[in-house]
Amino acid sequence: MPVPSNNLDMDVEEFRKRGKEIIDLIADYYKGVDSYPPLAQVEVGYLAKLLPTEAPLKSEPFEDIIADFNAKIMPGVTHWQSGNFFGWFPSSYSFPSFIGDMLSSMINCIGFNWICSPACTELETIVLDWLGKAFGLDESFLATRSDGSSGPGGGVIQGSASEAHIVAMLAARERMLHTLRDQGLSEEEVASASTRLVAYGSDQTHSSGQKAAMVIGCKFVSIPSDDGLRLTAAALARQIDKDRAEGNIPFFVCGTFGTTNTAAIDDLAGIAAVAARENLWYHIDAAYAGCALVCPEYRQLCRGAELADSFNVNPNKWLLVNFDFSALWVKNSCYLRDALSVTREYYRNDASDSGLVKDYRNWELPLGRRFRSLKLWFVLRMFGIEGLQQYIRRTVALGEWFEQQLLSDGRFEIIAPATFGLVVFRVLPDAVDLQRHGVDPADEGAVDSLVSDVDERIYKLMIADGRVFLTDSKVRGRHVIRACFGGTHVSQKTVQTLITVLKESADKILGRP
Ligand SMILES: *Cc1c(COP(=O)(O)O)cnc(C)c1O
Repeated sequence: MPVPSNNLDMDVEEFRKRGKEIIDLIADYYKGVDSYPPLAQVEVGYLAKLLPTEAPLKSEPFEDIIADFNAKIMPGVTHWQSGNFFGWFPSSYSFPSFIGDMLSSMINCIGFNWICSPACTELETIVLDWLGKAFGLDESFLATRSDGSSGPGGGVIQGSASEAHIVAMLAARERMLHTLRDQGLSEEEVASASTRLVAYGSDQTHSSGQKAAMVIGCKFVSIPSDDGLRLTAAALARQIDKDRAEGNIPFFVCGTFGTTNTAAIDDLAGIAAVAARENLWYHIDAAYAGCALVCPEYRQLCRGAELADSFNVNPNKWLLVNFDFSALWVKNSCYLRDALSVTREYYRNDASDSGLVKDYRNWELPLGRRFRSLKLWFVLRMFGIEGLQQYIRRTVALGEWFEQQLLSDGRFEIIAPATFGLVVFRVLPDAVDLQRHGVDPADEGAVDSLVSDVDERIYKLMIADGRVFLTDSKVRGRHVIRACFGGTHVSQKTVQTLITVLKESADKILGRP
């Protein structure tokens, strides 16, 4: 039987040529990225109007596709890499990481077992040890300790902090079920107990905590945070007592180093003590702020992390590693593996059977995994730890500069300071003309709601202006504006634009000062 020829429409020589053109396109994009409106200016459903309803039957010319990319896709892109983008937390990038990603695409392996590409597994273990050391993590989180011995700890790259949260919670449940069995409970009793598990976070914990509990099917309790928006040991202990009294089984607590809303830091050491006493798995979510740990001056803020069971940081947020890359370290990977190992004949091989290799498929939800460690490897080698420290300190300095400008304007208050390059602020009640709005200054509720309303109007005007993009939120029900300075292209010039837009918007809403 004749086999049809492999008539791919892009052969290797065509790829060589086109690939170089695309590198030029990418380089031009990054050169001019600050000149785009940071937020995509399109309406819902814009793209369906521009594209056919079915895939083409026949091959189309490359030029046509690129032309459509430029004309139809790019207008619908929000430019996270623009220096005028201050929204959410950044998606920082770097060219070394970009290159690592290209090489990962080149290899395009599916590294679920060691044998699938030994380098994929081994580089991951090595660079996560490098990064763990660069963060000053406790040795027990590392795969190889300073004396050369290897323990049950180690790092694994997850696709996201949300996946890390799910995986940590699964390991926590596994450990709790082990404990119950060790206490002599029958399988029936263990099954019944597993329906009464409770996981904890605060009202500031990232939504992934609740989502993880939804996925594994346990209860999640959001404990009210204190005035500093922190989860405290006392509040956790009180909630545990209450839940135990109701016959529930606390098994997991998430402490956050740098919450999404305001970059607040939970009482990490206090929570550690409660978790140890109450036999809870202690997960630390340091998705954004953990990146700052490359700078030693941040480590004392993270005291208590050495007592956690799992620790998670997203270098794709603030450490120049392109999305996606979420580093999760665990002290005892056996619970992860017990919770996530399912072996089938088609995955078996001598290396796996020998027990001498890591098969990362047993440390994560998916089977398949990319060769993501190449990104971090390029970043760590090309910047060095010093280069990363400089980048973090620069972000923080830009945030502090912005904060000074805000304070000297006199019409704003800082809700969360620029410790991690995130400034959360709102308009001061004193800057709002209560009389003009017919609000009695003694009526706290009315003042509050007016100030929130005015703050939101200033924010919306800034977005409508289009020169900058930033996000808003609520803290204790009050409207606040968030500006984060960690993007790779954020500079004094773009922060100045942000200040200008803010002042102009405030002038329009408040009347000139
Ligand atoms: C961004 C963030 C997350 C979620 O990150 P993903 O990797 O997108 O799941 C979790 N926790 C905190 C504190 C975050 O800031």
